[in-house]
Amino acid sequence: MTDATLPSPEPGERLEQDVESAVLAAAATAVDAAGEAVDIVPLDSPRRLLLVHAHPDDETIGTGATMAKYAAENVLVTLVTCTLGEEGEVLVPEIAHLAADRDDGLGPHRAGELAAAMEALRISDSRYLGGMGRWRDSGMMGTPANERPDCFWQADFDEAVRELVAVMREVRPQVVITYDENGGYGHPDHIQAHRVTVAAFEASGDPAYAPQLGERWQPSKLYWTAVSKSMLQAGIDLLKQSGETNFFGVDSADDLPFGVSDEVITTEVDASDHLDAKVAAMRAHKSQIELDGPFFALSNNVGQRAFGREHYILVRGERGPGSGPSGREDDLFAGVEHA
Ligand SMILES: [Zn+2]
Repeated sequence: MTDATLPSPEPGERLEQDVESAVLAAAATAVDAAGEAVDIVPLDSPRRLLLVHAHPDDETIGTGATMAKYAAENVLVTLVTCTLGEEGEVLVPEIAHLAADRDDGLGPHRAGELAAAMEALRISDSRYLGGMGRWRDSGMMGTPANERPDCFWQADFDEAVRELVAVMREVRPQVVITYDENGGYGHPDHIQAHRVTVAAFEASGDPAYAPQLGERWQPSKLYWTAVSKSMLQAGIDLLKQSGETNFFGVDSADDLPFGVSDEVITTEVDASDHLDAKVAAMRAHKSQIELDGPFFALSNNVGQRAFGREHYILVRGERGPGSGPSGREDDLFAGVEHA
């Protein structure tokens, strides 16, 4: 999420674990458990899911359980992260010096955290748009970081789209996930991830578009991530009752910059069996997600009910058959023919 426009959680006890900075080679190819590069043969997996996220940790907070669930079901899950999150707030005092306004070393550190999170979720195909470090975190809207020529907000749009089309034509996902037009909560990198993904979704299937990038591939479905407002409110209420903490200091989900009305949610993935993997991945993002912060409080108190269920809005493609009284899809691949 990267120092959101959210009210700051109360400072409390900090992590005591050593935080090691792992600098990894750009993950253009997947690595297996032993760290050896492995070739991905997309068509070995009949179902393929592509997620486009802005910063390391967004994938885990918003879609971690979904990723773990589908990976466990032998779906090829490909994560494309657009920046290294260099402008993020460092929540661990021991590495506060990595912050952008000090040593500016947070990017490689977060790449290490992301790699550890992918291990926890058992995702083998994690990449950076244009290669690691191609585009820098743009910082929160209205900050000078937005103006840097190397930031994602200032990216050459066509270049970014081409990079993503190349990934789409290589891994051939039937299902693509990114944020809505507001980027979920207004961060410029989230908005840019949205714009680039929509454009790539359209271009990838166009045979006239950049044929040198590979054979055309039209994904079947495009989803926005969504935080259900009712579930958010239930979480806020439960945390208040428990007296343990409050969620970003608010009483109402209406006071948070994210959260969407339940009527517009088309799809609910119940990945509560994979909540442990999601929590482990959250722990891997040590510099960004405090163990005593609101996300862990939520997962501890309402984890199975709220945190293992992730929500989406279908915006392109045919809605598959629903299930249960809500009629929502319970599978991102519902109605999709596998190739
Ligand atoms: Zn983010």
